[in-house]
Amino acid sequence: MSENIANKVVVITGASSGLGEATARHLASFGAKVVLGARRTDKLEKIAGEIRAAGGQAEYLKTDVTVPSEVQSLVDKAVSAYGKLDVIVNNAGLMAIAPMSELKVEEWDRMIDINIKGVLYGVAAALPVFQRQKSGHFINISSVAGIKVFSPGGTVYSGTKFAVRAISDGLRHEVGGDIRTTTIEPGAVESELKYGSSHRESAEMVGDFYQLAISSDSVARAIAYAIEQPADVDINEIVLRPTVQDF
Ligand code: NDP
Repeated sequence: MSENIANKVVVITGASSGLGEATARHLASFGAKVVLGARRTDKLEKIAGEIRAAGGQAEYLKTDVTVPSEVQSLVDKAVSAYGKLDVIVNNAGLMAIAPMSELKVEEWDRMIDINIKGVLYGVAAALPVFQRQKSGHFINISSVAGIKVFSPGGTVYSGTKFAVRAISDGLRHEVGGDIRTTTIEPGAVESELKYGSSHRESAEMVGDFYQLAISSDSVARAIAYAIEQPADVDINEIVLRPTVQDF
């Protein structure tokens, strides 16, 4: 059903690496028009260039998801470049693992700002467009750590991912009707996420754990599955993890 992906305009935050990059490349290969946001524009430029060289359509804009006006500009860019917005993938995220007793308050703030408020700013930017169009699709990236608390060490990260699930479900309930809402809850996936911890012992634990990680293409395929459904089918949640992962 990948014909349902062709010509859809898809904004992706955190598109400069990992899941966001893989999703951009995968959807573009099915003919989606992708609009990439992240802070590292050198990476975005390269990814967009490679998508175009392969015959796809891609735009990018430097976007810090902790700044509402920058997320708004990203959505505006999609609408001005392609005339509409079909999907926003609120994907940008940070995983800084450390025991609570380390009191990494600045990292707690960063995770709340990026993982929760960044998603909300994406909702605020896209919802008026979706309501005007009477169509649209939110895809918010939570985690298996948003289903079960990843503790010790991942307590605040889990808190942010529980929040993403709660916000997504309430959003689905409130906007219903014409607008679809999907939450993706991946387990360990290969990306740069595992490098986000400044606490040495936790970083080593994460590094060991991620030896079982699966490819970021696995999440890209899950996202494509949600998008390619007919408009009257709303895939609300997808949980995926490495077969050998028990958490
Ligand atoms: P990466 O670290 O590879 O990617 C994170 C992306 O977020 C980067 O593109 C980064 O770009 C972007 N980002 C970080 N901070 C900001 C910011 N302030 N503004 C805009 N973009 C930002 O990790 P993943 O691909 O793994 O992570 C993507 C999402 O998937 C996250 O929400 C993560 O929590 C979630 N997830 C990942 C899992 C995994 O095992 N990998 C499992 C479950 C969920 P830049 O630095 O250029 O801004």
